[in-house]
Amino acid sequence: MKLILQGHEERYLTETLALLFFPAAGFSAERDDGLQAVSRLEGRTAFTEITAHGKTAQAVDTAREDEPAEQSIARSFYKAGQALTGITPPWGTLTGIRPAKLVKRLLDSGLTEREAADRLLRDCFTSPDKTALCAGVLRSEQQALAQLNPSAVSLYLGIPFCPSRCSYCSFVSHSVEKEGRFIPAYVEALKEEVEQTMKALDKISVPVQSIYMGGGTPTTLSAEQLREVLGIFSRYLDPKTLSEFTVEAGRPDTITQDKLEAILACGADRISVNTQTTDDETLRRVGRTHSADDFFAAYELVRRYPFRVINVDLIAGLPQEPVEAFCKSLKDTIALRPENLTVHSLSLKRAARLEYKDMDRSRQGSNDIVEMLSFTSAATKEAGYQPYYLYRQRNTLGNLENVGYALPDTQGLYNVYIMGEYQSIVAMGAGGVSKVVGLPGGKIERVFHNKYYHEYIRDKEKMRRNRETLITLLQRARSF
Ligand code: SF4
Repeated sequence: MKLILQGHEERYLTETLALLFFPAAGFSAERDDGLQAVSRLEGRTAFTEITAHGKTAQAVDTAREDEPAEQSIARSFYKAGQALTGITPPWGTLTGIRPAKLVKRLLDSGLTEREAADRLLRDCFTSPDKTALCAGVLRSEQQALAQLNPSAVSLYLGIPFCPSRCSYCSFVSHSVEKEGRFIPAYVEALKEEVEQTMKALDKISVPVQSIYMGGGTPTTLSAEQLREVLGIFSRYLDPKTLSEFTVEAGRPDTITQDKLEAILACGADRISVNTQTTDDETLRRVGRTHSADDFFAAYELVRRYPFRVINVDLIAGLPQEPVEAFCKSLKDTIALRPENLTVHSLSLKRAARLEYKDMDRSRQGSNDIVEMLSFTSAATKEAGYQPYYLYRQRNTLGNLENVGYALPDTQGLYNVYIMGEYQSIVAMGAGGVSKVVGLPGGKIERVFHNKYYHEYIRDKEKMRRNRETLITLLQRARSF
């Protein structure tokens, strides 16, 4: 899309809004792909003209005196996009990652839920359903926050290997077939990091409230390797402060009895079995090496063990998957009664092999995903699940949301604490990003590990320096 700005510099905002209506768009001033948008600001009034393949729509909007002028840029862009494409993105012009924070601000200012919904509909064209979703999340989040220990940390361990690479994958993960021979060296480096980090936290008496082992696919490790890494915690952890310990087993084709026994023996009480869909054709299309039956068998196996919580992940908007197939996956999953259910909207970052242009074109700009998420909202509610955490990512189809649902009293604490930046996170493994919250001035500091596993294995010195920085930051946060 040729994007021309006049009288303002709100490039990020206008690009994000353009992606709502044209998800395949790339942006530059010279581009000639039949798409053009002109966004002009004069005083508090914004004009937008969008042209797509010979059709043009225009819109104008004026900001009220009590709001920033940028609101008019967003609203005029939205109105022109809607008039041209007929699409009504349900979040309106709200583009932030955590929309529930905005709703919280409105409720804290004394508005009722109804008044907050009216305000967001007026200012941002946000549908009342989405405001209600945010309000539901905030209510459920309160239960998780009642258990928060702000002086404790959460730990994250990353395993960047998977049995195969899914076509939509936007993480740094490597297929076991090609790079599995490096897993033993990775496990050694991770063991050292876990040991040293736990020692350092112990020394400054910082307790651990939750642990999350994710990936990639942690169960690409053998039972023995899982025991070696996770077993380190038992020497340092105080069971009285640890509230939750999750292992994201992930791909059903990696889950075996001996690995489950190892995970359980090391103290984990929450486990994820992720199928993303129960449609075999979609599973094949996106390069996952398991069938729906493999998922059902893995779930049944996991259920035989006394995990407190099982989570299942699904994705709305997988390439060429019809709305009916997604709805069936959701119904299949709800029938299993996992305590937690997480529904993501497909997000494609640059690292994904699959680009929008390779996707089913009929999906681009359609309301399919909106339908999938509306169905999710109704079906989970009917089945007794509550939404308890919510976030959005850029490059998610339609700028839609990812939502964690939970049966009563089973909210995933790690998800709430980390997503809401309520607690510091100490991340270990390649690509880990630690975050220290509660610093003077409300500042948040991040510490980045090497992104790729081979750099991580090699560069022990960086790991040591990161640990030192992290400990200093945690001490500073504590003394504040
Ligand atoms: S299982 Fe997850 S991390 Fe692994 S390749 Fe698929 S999307 Fe990526």
